[in-house]
Amino acid sequence: MAIPRETVEQILQTARIEEVVGEFVTLKKKGTNLWGNCPFHNEKTPSFSVNPARNIFKCFGCGKAGDSAKFLMEHEHYTYPEALRYLAKKYNIKIEEKEQTAEEIMQQSIREKMFNINEFADKYFVDTLWNTDEGKTIGLEYFRERGYFDPIIQKFHLGYNPAKWDAFTTYAKKNGYSEELLEQIGLSIKGNNGLYDRYHGRVMFPIHSLTGRVIGFGGRILTNDKKSPKYQNSPESEIYDKKQTLYGIYFAKNAIARQDECILVEGYFDVLRMHQIGIENVVASSGTSLTMEQIRLVKRYTKNITMLYDGDAAGIHAALRGTDMILSEGMNVRVVVLPPEHDPDTFGKEFSTEYVNNYLKENAKDFIRFKTELLGAVAERCRKRPH
Ligand SMILES: [Zn+2]
Repeated sequence: MAIPRETVEQILQTARIEEVVGEFVTLKKKGTNLWGNCPFHNEKTPSFSVNPARNIFKCFGCGKAGDSAKFLMEHEHYTYPEALRYLAKKYNIKIEEKEQTAEEIMQQSIREKMFNINEFADKYFVDTLWNTDEGKTIGLEYFRERGYFDPIIQKFHLGYNPAKWDAFTTYAKKNGYSEELLEQIGLSIKGNNGLYDRYHGRVMFPIHSLTGRVIGFGGRILTNDKKSPKYQNSPESEIYDKKQTLYGIYFAKNAIARQDECILVEGYFDVLRMHQIGIENVVASSGTSLTMEQIRLVKRYTKNITMLYDGDAAGIHAALRGTDMILSEGMNVRVVVLPPEHDPDTFGKEFSTEYVNNYLKENAKDFIRFKTELLGAVAERCRKRPH
């Protein structure tokens, strides 16, 4: 699908490089340029520069350079048309595009197709949650019963996939999506009796990229069926790399940069709860244990990470592992351990925003104090144990 040449020029002239890059990299003004840590190579002192006068970026470390479109192609792995469309949307420039021919549709890149079907699925799950009897009485009721208010349910695009075996799959096929694509992106699974919904009977959490596109889903089961896993997540695909993804980053990135701190939690609900009580610089490493790639993603916005983990043994173990990784990246890490009966979700539900903020302030320990106290507690337990 061709974008007219005049429109391309208009887009590239309107886009301000410092604004486009600023969505992804924390920039500081020094002289006529702005500087930040390069998102394309690993570094501790900024060699990545943005020149507003010339409207270009350049890294003196790895040599990457170019205009706004080039930056998006490198950073978000967009095609050139995708980058232009992103910029057009950002700057409210209307693209007059002609109707797509069948051949053009065929030629759409696989990535674009995957983004499309995820967006289609996202709308379907949200619509099902709010506008169908089953969605309202089961899905929406579940979220409300857990103490979530409608604005947070809407903000995070939470949804519902009906308990019928293939409700979504059938609907998607009717709308022209191929079985092959449905299976590739992981929304459907091929069984002996044909394709069925991966997430049937689950509430849905779309996972957004930095730019807010849906790259995958997590689905939580609502029954006590012990044979099914509590969470079912999208498999990896051309657009979804679990180790590079943090749940909630799209909604948290501005708050993280503004407050120069990122709070790291473990689950979808932990992120939702913190946002609901007004603490918005929060992301989760949902679906994997913390990776170096995720830590570097945070590093684009801040060097300060606070880990807010459950007070049980698993939580403490995860925090210990995390502190070493964060320190090795040259960042500052603090740990807040919650009372043993709590996770961030239940803690935020039980106490006021003020109480939670104070708790975070008073209980944040640097890694040395965290480890020392942990060893002290272990020694104490050993001493008390009768021999
Ligand atoms: Zn670089």
